[in-house]
Amino acid sequence: MSQPRPPSPSEQLEFLRSFQRLLDEGSFVATYKFALLHAIADLCVLQGDDSGAALELATFDIAEHFVRLYWPQVIPFMASEEEAVLRQNTGRQAQVVRAVREAHEHYDGSLASFRHDVAEWTHLVRSVQRTVEVMPLWKVQTVGSDRLEFLYSNQDHGHSVRLEPGVAYCLRAFYPMLVDMIEGAWSHFIQRHNPRLLKQVTDLRSFLFGSERAVLDAPRFLLRDVQEGRCFYCTRPIAARADVDHFIPWRRYPLDLGHNLVLAHPACNSKKSDLLAAEEHLERWVERNRTSGLEASFEGVGIRHSLTATLRVAAWAYGQVHKAGGQVWVAGTELRPLGVRWDEVLARR
Ligand SMILES: [Zn+2]
Repeated sequence: MSQPRPPSPSEQLEFLRSFQRLLDEGSFVATYKFALLHAIADLCVLQGDDSGAALELATFDIAEHFVRLYWPQVIPFMASEEEAVLRQNTGRQAQVVRAVREAHEHYDGSLASFRHDVAEWTHLVRSVQRTVEVMPLWKVQTVGSDRLEFLYSNQDHGHSVRLEPGVAYCLRAFYPMLVDMIEGAWSHFIQRHNPRLLKQVTDLRSFLFGSERAVLDAPRFLLRDVQEGRCFYCTRPIAARADVDHFIPWRRYPLDLGHNLVLAHPACNSKKSDLLAAEEHLERWVERNRTSGLEASFEGVGIRHSLTATLRVAAWAYGQVHKAGGQVWVAGTELRPLGVRWDEVLARR
């Protein structure tokens, strides 16, 4: 076995070209393939690293991400004259979508309470897993008569798939851009297959991929308490309105876990925008997340949480900015280059 190594620049370019070909040339009769690519990219951030090594993903984990991706999409879409669930398939509604819809109704739209019901949750994920294993997994890398097996080889490994060396590296390095491409192609598919419903719609994409409103409303009071009524960023008191902000911005990685949420002035929130926060904020955030009883409070109001997953995503996000020599947000319109301390701050537990 040779040591893993990061892919060379020309290998990375080749990867991007192949990925683009999958989306441009692949035939899509359902949105499963988009969900699959999205899920694989998400899992590379959560479970992979930057060594260039191969990565084995469990199809169960992929299926979990499927459910999470389809969850907001099964709400009936309301157009001016009618409302219906968007079609995700050229023929009858995709089976996964029907199953997720039933669960969505049963749990009143709360993904958190569904996940709490471990037996039911596992049952649905297993059934989605079977669909993933027979359908998109072995078909997504066929474009026309060509086989483009650059993500993994089409061999049955039981309940897992083994990503080729370099794949996790590239999906992590180009995550925002690739997810943007996947969501764009996915939205386009939906737009094409729901012409009547979507005639006048402009903001389809935020309906499909936007953050769950309920998730952001639930923690408002809790966070006000934890932050003693002060803005997380500028630490000045919050008089009236407060925004629940994703510390690691939603646009960089859709992380709706409790530890990622902070309360901020609408002005501070909007100035921070899609930037990562500077080290002093990061330090306070890591400290805040150690607040005792935080997990129990999240559970009390039904917010999902995982400090481990949150910190992994944070380390990935800061690592990407570090590699790109990017800047972070300090306050107002002030930015500064990311220093070297973030790594050590995130390593503190
Ligand atoms: Zn503020």
